[in-house]
Order: sequence, then C-alpha cells, then structure tokens
Amino acid sequence: MSSDRPNLYDLSPGALAELFRRWGEPAYRAKQLYRHLYVQRTADPATMTDFPKALRDRLANETAFGVLRKKQLLTGDDGMTRKVLWTLPGGDPLETVLMIYPDRATVCVSSQSGCPMQCVFCATGKLGFLHDCTPGEIIEQVLWAERELKAFLAASNPQAKIENRRLSNIVFMGMGEPFNNYDNWWTSVERLHDPDGYDMGARNFTVSTVGLVPGILRLADEALPVNLAISLHTPDDDLRSAMMPVNKRYPVAELIEATRTYTEKTRRRVSFEYVLLKEKNDFPEQALRLAQLLRPADRPPLLCHVNLIPWNPVPGTPLSRSDRRRVLNFQAVLKEHGVPCTVRVERGVDIAAACGQLAGG
Ligand code: SF4
Repeated sequence: MSSDRPNLYDLSPGALAELFRRWGEPAYRAKQLYRHLYVQRTADPATMTDFPKALRDRLANETAFGVLRKKQLLTGDDGMTRKVLWTLPGGDPLETVLMIYPDRATVCVSSQSGCPMQCVFCATGKLGFLHDCTPGEIIEQVLWAERELKAFLAASNPQAKIENRRLSNIVFMGMGEPFNNYDNWWTSVERLHDPDGYDMGARNFTVSTVGLVPGILRLADEALPVNLAISLHTPDDDLRSAMMPVNKRYPVAELIEATRTYTEKTRRRVSFEYVLLKEKNDFPEQALRLAQLLRPADRPPLLCHVNLIPWNPVPGTPLSRSDRRRVLNFQAVLKEHGVPCTVRVERGVDIAAACGQLAGG
C-alpha cells in the first residue's frame, strides 16, 4: 500500500469534510464516513453500502483505513491477556495489550515507539526513542482492541450477546511517555471521547506519566476529566535520579508541587505508581518518607492513591523483585500513616505484556 495515502484515522471531522469537498462529494457524506469509522467501527469500505460504488472504490484505492501492520499476537492468562506487536509504516515496532476481565476490559495503548526517558527498570526505555505515534496510530490500537475483545467473547461463548460489549478503560501506559507527544495524544483522546463518534467517557481514560511537570500542569487545564497516574517509584531524589533520569529535570519536590496544583484545580485524585525493587526502594523507612511526602504535617494531604507494583523481570537488568513479605510490610507502613494504597494484580507476565516489559518483541 502506498504510504502517501491519507490515514483516515488521522483526519479530524473537518479534514474528512475537506477531503470529500475536494472529491466533489456532498458534505453529508463526510459525516456518514465519520460514523462508519467511529460508530459502526468498520475499516472496510465494501461494507459502506450507503455509499455509491464509485465512492467505495475511491476510498479503497486512495485512502488508508489504518497503517499498523500486525506482526504477531501473543496470548496469556488463558487468552484473557492479548498482546499484539505492530510494525509501523517505517518499520518501527509498537505494542498494544488487551486485558479482559469477567466484567470489564482494559486496553493499554502506546503513544510512542520506543521511549527516550531511559528508566532503568523498563524494557521499552532500552530501545531508545524511535517514533511519535500520530493520533490515527493511537486510535487504531483502541479500535483493534475492541474488535479483538468481541472476537474473543464470541469464540468463548457463542450464545452471548456481544454487540454492546465495549472496552471499559483506555490506559496510556504502553510504550512511550504520552506527555512527550502531548498534541497527538490529546487529539486521540478528544476524538475517542467525541459523543458523536466513539463516545468513550472521559473518566474511562487514564494517562500515565513519568513525571513531566509541564504535561501535568497542561492536563490540569484541559476540559476533559481524564485520570492521571504518575510513576513515582521512590520519595528520594538521589535514587529517583538514578532510576529515572527525568528526575534530574523535575525533582521530587517540584513533581509533588505540580501534582498538588493539579489536584487543587481539578479536585481529582491522582495515582502514584510505585514499582517495588528488592532492597532498592522497598525499605520501611522509604515507605515512611513517602507517607510524609504525601501527607505532610503542615499542609493538607495530597488527594492521591498509591499503586504498589511488584516489579516484572526485564532480562539483562541487575534488579530483583521484592518478595511478598517486603511488599506487604511496605504497604502496612503506608496504611498506618493514612495513605490509601493497593498492590496491583498482575497480568500478562508470561508474554512480557506487563508494566515496563514492552520492547517490541
Ligand atoms: S517506564 Fe515509561 S517513561 Fe520510563 S522508559 Fe519505560 S516507557 Fe519510557
């Protein structure tokens, strides 16, 4: 397929209207196409039978209904975790993970191929930065996940009514740092939220950042109330700078101050993600310092929740996973000091689909 064809998922409703205007099509046809893409969610012009045959052919020959090429699908957790490896038009890798639960389904979407942030515990960081996803490349991952969900449910229970089963949550926690690709990422959120199109509620989105302060402050001013998760991983600057080089630019105090601004403006609770590494950041004294950071004696407590994540092994890293006793001790100190926290249930470890394990293969 020629790469100079426009990817329809990259085009806003206005850009679709402009394309059809140039083709001499009436304006209402662009609205019909938008509904095909985001309400009927079809990527096959042959099924658009309300269009004349000539228009269907022209769409098939001169546009692209997506650009991601599936390289491999891996399944784990009895098929309930499904990771797809994509190849982008220039050959860069991308990954998307669908996690199916009895009552809900979450897709973990990538916003960049590779990542420039170099967190030491992360497989994606080892790839370096390769590519900023376009809005269409982000949206395609979500639409794939919904089709995959329906196909899985139909195969596992042919009697079930699946037409209305939808994704429950979209989390931007795959490859990349979304705030490094803010404009494209936010365009994809607005498009997927559009009540005239895909119609996903804003509270069903979660964006995860490594702690880019300008992105946090920008998100605080957005109209859509999407959820924010911040990868903190330690309350100590020296250790955080060693684990996550971003901390040299935005140290812990500045990050916490920006988070306070965010919670005060939005009145929304943030999640702090804390990957536990054995004898690195899982000592009870660190839990105490974390509690003091989030519930300081001289200011109101930060509106937050801590997600403790037992680290998933990444080959070639000299780190080890905290054992269960250390995880529970850490959690107990936080709880004792009034910090709400949970230990995340793991999915997809066997197919390297868990947090920090996405590395394009
Ligand atoms: S943890 Fe996130 S921000 Fe850090 S290197 Fe990995 S993908 Fe990038």
